[in-house]
Amino acid sequence: MIPLSRPYIDNRHFENIREVLSAASLAGQGPCSERCEQWLQKSMANGKAFLTKSCTSALEMAALILQIEPGDEIILPSYTFTSTANAFALRGAVPVFVGVNPKTMNIDESQIEPAITGRTKAIVIVHYSGTSCDMDLILGIARRRHLLVVEDAAQGICASYKGAQLGTMGDVGCLSFHEIKNVTSAGQGGACLVNKESLVARAETIHDNGTNKAQMKRGEVDHYGWQEVGSNFIMSEVLAAILWAQLQAKDKIMKRRLALWDAYRAQLTMLEERGVIALPWIPEYNAHNAHLFWFRLCDPDDVERFIEHMRTHGISSTAHYSPLHLSPAGRRLGRFVGDDSVTNLASSQLVRVPIYPDLSNDEQEDVIHTVKAFWGVAGGDSDHDGKIGANEVVNGDLREST
Ligand SMILES: *Cc1c(COP(=O)(O)O)cnc(C)c1O
Repeated sequence: MIPLSRPYIDNRHFENIREVLSAASLAGQGPCSERCEQWLQKSMANGKAFLTKSCTSALEMAALILQIEPGDEIILPSYTFTSTANAFALRGAVPVFVGVNPKTMNIDESQIEPAITGRTKAIVIVHYSGTSCDMDLILGIARRRHLLVVEDAAQGICASYKGAQLGTMGDVGCLSFHEIKNVTSAGQGGACLVNKESLVARAETIHDNGTNKAQMKRGEVDHYGWQEVGSNFIMSEVLAAILWAQLQAKDKIMKRRLALWDAYRAQLTMLEERGVIALPWIPEYNAHNAHLFWFRLCDPDDVERFIEHMRTHGISSTAHYSPLHLSPAGRRLGRFVGDDSVTNLASSQLVRVPIYPDLSNDEQEDVIHTVKAFWGVAGGDSDHDGKIGANEVVNGDLREST
């Protein structure tokens, strides 16, 4: 079975782990963590990067840093992972959901202003599949209406908006190093990018159990104590060792992912021209990171059969989020503003196909052929690394399933 994603692992991962284990300083905030944080800070204009246990914990940290309180409202896209809403609901905030642009599955920027009320505290945006939201528009609204901005850039590492890395533009940005993301720290991990100098001191305290231990380590105070409500958001040094190996390999990871993404796009455009699928749109302001390859089936009733068709040919393919405003917790805790029909339809049409650095050209060809075969289209164009034959025959049983 070709999986949807698989982490890239090379020897350096083992070397880095061995180094950390022999140094026997494992709790975190050690040399590997320092290296990773420095690496992330290279793309930040201001502020500081903090490694966390997950993007979920980075989002929870963001809610504490921004002093989100019961009754505050946050505006977020309905099409996202539960963490985006949970982190703020945990502080008693009300999630106010708005629709997405089906061309990117990112928040529909035009829906933000109508959702603002006197209680709105922050706009929490998601850069779906490493495709950037229109940050000038969003930061403009936030400035005008005195709102904070959190970027859920869980899928956004190594992607940028007009040259700025995703996660570095809002007040706080949150990255994920979960197993399925482009860069992983052994399955679980994240980072909280605090982009405002004025927030860094509190963030440092919140990150380390609400204490000023960091100040003590720097010799600024003699003792440390409980200063704020915080938590243990610190990433284990062993995971940071793996993260460092991943960051060292990021050029290789990115190059392969982008090549696979481009090949999918080139090969599947003919299906878009036939009107059976819609491919993602990459805005000109975005350098994406090929995190996912997704497309929408024009007929949402085909999705289940499509996924089953892929599965029977040994290929994982899955839908993605169910809109949060339709979920039991979303209905109970939040509300949707605007017309949700576009978001609901687009969510029900979306499927993802395998993309990861170790996916071979042959395996990708197999995926492309199998996708095309669902609509009875045989063969592929000849420009895929010169590897897909123009007139390759597709088995009769594949045609049958359309
Ligand atoms: C993966 C993901 C998360 C959660 O990240 P974890 O590191 O698993 O906590 C949150 N938001 C979005 C948009 C994600 O894709």
